[in-house]
Amino acid sequence: MANLSPVMLSMEPETSKLGILRKSVQLANGASRPFLIAGPCSAETPAQLELTLNGLLPLAPDLIRAGIWKPRTRPNRFEGVGEEGLKWVREMTLERNLRLAVEVAQPPQAEAALKFGVDVVWIGARTTVNPFLVDELGKVLAGSPLPVMVKNPINPDLELWLGAVERLEALGLRELALVHRGFSPFERSPYRNMPQWEIPIELRRRRPDLPMYCDPSHITGDARLVPEFAQIALDLCYDGWMLEVHHDPSRAWSDPNQQLTPDQLAVTLNGLKLRKTDFQDLSNLEDLMQLRREVDQLDHDLLTLLSQRLQLSHRLGEIKKEFDLPILQPRRWEQILNTRTSAGQAMGLDASFLIKWLQIMHQESIRRQLEVYRPDSVQAPK
Ligand code: PEP
Ligand code: MN
Repeated sequence: MANLSPVMLSMEPETSKLGILRKSVQLANGASRPFLIAGPCSAETPAQLELTLNGLLPLAPDLIRAGIWKPRTRPNRFEGVGEEGLKWVREMTLERNLRLAVEVAQPPQAEAALKFGVDVVWIGARTTVNPFLVDELGKVLAGSPLPVMVKNPINPDLELWLGAVERLEALGLRELALVHRGFSPFERSPYRNMPQWEIPIELRRRRPDLPMYCDPSHITGDARLVPEFAQIALDLCYDGWMLEVHHDPSRAWSDPNQQLTPDQLAVTLNGLKLRKTDFQDLSNLEDLMQLRREVDQLDHDLLTLLSQRLQLSHRLGEIKKEFDLPILQPRRWEQILNTRTSAGQAMGLDASFLIKWLQIMHQESIRRQLEVYRPDSVQAPK
């Protein structure tokens, strides 16, 4: 992704902080690129910040991120430089004409962010889960409206994420963006946080007006995987990235495994392939249009089959009821799972996809049969 520099980052004294969070950044050559938020997981010392910011300057980040108050999973770890540190972090970013975003998790932190003229704040994953706290933060921030980025909650709950946005909007905050940082895994998993792409995709469908940024650092937890995920974000039409960058990641006081050096970030950005997002042109791609017509037809056929399949479930329910049989026949269900999974795999379908699909279909089949058993009262488990 060559020539990343934006036309100009206006750094005149700002009366309002609004107008910072964008869906894309205009480049001098008329093209545009995604919004780039970069900076250390935590501000540690002026020396660390100086080296990191100086390394980032040539990449023209649109916003610097720096954690000032750090929510740590375990106690007795570095918990951030706090309000005293915010003073020098603000000075050092202003000296370099860089905009600054910090995380706020409690009202006094939001007050300090306003006091020191921070440009943008974000609400972290551990705070988005708590509607009381989101309201309290919103009340402080709405006092002199700041742009706010809302990270997804740690649990995969789209409504809770959207709910946090709606709370802030109701309090009068007008410039909001979403940051997808993945969801805490329940079991050992290949990533620090599971992407569960379907959640940000659905949220984006519901709120296309909000910029959606991807945080590959917190999703992967591994600097080696960050470039791949930064590209996935482009392929999935994200509006930008939040990336953790440290001049010497292995010595970072928090999240040492997932931070890139400024040089690694430069290499990453150069290696990215921007996709065409002008969908007007697609009608000229006859092959693609033909395939889409075939997909439309197959989806229609699948819906017809699904409807027929579930009508059979209803009739099965009627017969089981007549003969006083239980709805769930565990051995039959086991057999369905096994036979369909192996048949599907032989057709090139993924086993975990097949299991998920069979479970959903089985659940709906049971719901239909419960309707037959208790036509007046049924609210089957969903
Ligand atoms: C962070 O951005 O440093 C952070 C703590 O993120 P999250 O809220 O996504 O865990
Ligand atoms: Mn971090």
